[in-house]
Amino acid sequence: MGDLMIHITLGAMRYVDPEVDQLGRDHVGWDANMDDEALFRANRGCWVLGERADREQYALLSAQGTVRQAIEIDSLLPVSGGRRAMAGRYLSAGHPVYDAYVGKPQPVEPTRNPVTYFDSPHAARECGCGCGVPVTLGWFLTGHEQKALHDRVAKIGTVHQFIEWFDRVHTGAEPVTLSKIVCIAPHANAKKECSAHGTAAGCTPLVADVVLRDAASEHIAWAVCVRWLKENRDAVIWLERNPGVAALFELS
Ligand SMILES: [Zn+2]
Ligand SMILES: [Zn+2]
Repeated sequence: MGDLMIHITLGAMRYVDPEVDQLGRDHVGWDANMDDEALFRANRGCWVLGERADREQYALLSAQGTVRQAIEIDSLLPVSGGRRAMAGRYLSAGHPVYDAYVGKPQPVEPTRNPVTYFDSPHAARECGCGCGVPVTLGWFLTGHEQKALHDRVAKIGTVHQFIEWFDRVHTGAEPVTLSKIVCIAPHANAKKECSAHGTAAGCTPLVADVVLRDAASEHIAWAVCVRWLKENRDAVIWLERNPGVAALFELS
């Protein structure tokens, strides 16, 4: 899916010979009395659509300076003479591309060539926050980048905890996968380096063993320093729920 959309300028309706027309039509072009189905059938071809058209998902049909129809393209079918016809469907009210363009002034300057391409924010994009709303400019609805960001911060904890976590992940010191703590116990396994902060951090001493579970594995054995027990949000919560275990470590 690209950011370009196909724009096709239609002339006034005219009759053609269905014996000669490659799509068997008896008329092409636009007339105010044509309904959506008629408009689509009359004008889905036959156009000079180059390679770039293969990347595009939508086409607009305009006449007399107004967008008359928006088409969702499934494929482009070759017809003779190097032209092609669109296979797909015309869109109705409620579809973001329809709502953005149909019945409104055509979004491109008139040109000699009926087929043009224009940069459309509606060509493919929905708001980056995941709300599903199409965006007209940039990647987010106004304010939604803040929402998207804070949703992610909240998954880790406070802004401070998020930044610490991000810095650890970003430097490769902590796996990106969020995992769940199965249990925490005094350090007894064979690990000699802090699993949370990595070799470079040189955390000493290691005080606890942590068993984690994530999407990929049921049993991941870590050894960690006391700082991790105090700072990791999941560890703090787990130790709050298991005060008997928490009492084994010097956390204050
Ligand atoms: Zn959004
Ligand atoms: Zn550590």
